[in-house]
Amino acid sequence: MLDIRDPSTFNGPDAPSDDDLSTCVHCGLCLNACPTFRVTGLETESPRGRIYLMTQWKRGELPFTEELARHVDLCLGCRTCEAVCPSGVPYGRIIEHGRAEVERLRRPNPRSVLVRQALRRLLGHPGRLRAAGAATRVAQRLRLTGLVPQSRTLPRLTGAYTPPAGEVASAIGERRYRVAFLLGCVMPIFYRSAHEASVRLLQLAGCEVWFAPGQRCCGALFAHNGDLAGREPDLAAGERTFGMEGFDYLVVNSAGCGAHLKDSSPTLGSRVRDLTELLAEIGLPEPRREQRLRVTYQDACHLVHAQRIRAQPRQLIRSLPGVELVEMAHPDICCGSAGIYNAIQPEMSRRILDEKMDDLLGADPQMVVTANPGCQMQLADAY
Ligand code: SF4
Ligand code: SF4
Repeated sequence: MLDIRDPSTFNGPDAPSDDDLSTCVHCGLCLNACPTFRVTGLETESPRGRIYLMTQWKRGELPFTEELARHVDLCLGCRTCEAVCPSGVPYGRIIEHGRAEVERLRRPNPRSVLVRQALRRLLGHPGRLRAAGAATRVAQRLRLTGLVPQSRTLPRLTGAYTPPAGEVASAIGERRYRVAFLLGCVMPIFYRSAHEASVRLLQLAGCEVWFAPGQRCCGALFAHNGDLAGREPDLAAGERTFGMEGFDYLVVNSAGCGAHLKDSSPTLGSRVRDLTELLAEIGLPEPRREQRLRVTYQDACHLVHAQRIRAQPRQLIRSLPGVELVEMAHPDICCGSAGIYNAIQPEMSRRILDEKMDDLLGADPQMVVTANPGCQMQLADAY
C-alpha cells in the first residue's frame, strides 16, 4: 500500500488534490488547443496526458522519474486547456501544484536552481532589479549584450518608470474613479513607455491613479514556476501595501500578474482589473487623430484563458479611427513565451514560436498588439 507520508512519493502538501485531478473525464477535447501537443502530436505532451501522469504518480502506480517529470516541465502553463475543457478542470491550479511537487521530489537541476535563485534574489527587491536594469542599459549602449543572459529577447532599455511626485496622477477632466496601479517588477524597467501610456489612458478616462509606495513583485512568476513558498511574502506584502488607502480598482497591465492576483489574493482579487478590461468598461474620450494602420492582436494566455478577456482589447483597437484589425489564425494559442519558459525550455519555445510566426505572417499586419510583456519580448525577438 502507498504510504502518503513517504517523502519520496508525489503526495506532499503541495501536490494537486484528488478532487482537482478527478474532474478530468479524459474526453480529449483539449488536445488540439494545447501548443505542446500541436507541435509534438504526443499524448504525453497534452493536458490529458499530464493529468493522467500526475494521477498515476499520486496513486503510486507509476514511479516518479526525471524522464517523466520532463512532461510536466514542458507544459507552458498557458491554461488554454482549462478554457476549452467542458468538465471545468482547474488545470492552472493543477499545474502550479504539480510543478511545486515535482520540484520538491527531483534532484536539483543546476539550471532551474539558478533561475529560481536569481528570481528570488531579484524580483522581491525592487532596488536590485533597478540596478540590474541600469547595468543592462549600459551593456546595451556599449554593445556588450553578450554579457547579459537572454539579452537577445530584451527590449532596448531607456530608464525605469517612476511614479509622479506625491504618488498620484490626477484625472484629466472630471474625476470618476480612484484606481491603484500595479507597477510590477519587470514592467517599469523593460516597458517604461507602456506604463506611461497606460497611466495617461487612465487619466483620460477620468481616473485618479494612485501608486502605493513600496510596491514589489506580485509573486506570479514564482507561482507559475512551482515556487509556491517563494510567492507568499510578495502576496502578503501586496495586501499590506495596497491596503493603506482606499480605491475602486487595482489596475494591472501585465496579464500574468492580473491572473495571479485575481486567483490568489483574498483581499485584492475582486478589485483587480486588466487595463483593457477597465478601459473598455468605463470608456475613453473620442480619439482626435486618425491613423491608417493594419493591426493584428495576439491574445496573452493569462488574459484570454485565465481571465477570459477576449473581446475588450479588440473593442479598444476597433474604436481607433483608421485602424483595421485583422485576425491571424489561432490568435489565442501561446507564442511560447510563458513567463521564463523561453529561458528554461528554449527548444520547445522556439518550435511553438515558429508556428505562431506562420500565423502572424499569414495575417500580414503592420503592427502586432499584445497585452503582456513576455509575449511582446518573444514576438519582438522573431518578427
Ligand atoms: S482536461 Fe478537460 S477537455 Fe481535457 S481530457 Fe480532461 S476533461 Fe477532457
Ligand atoms: S497549460 Fe497549455 S501547454 Fe500546458 S497542458 Fe494546458 S494547453 Fe497544454
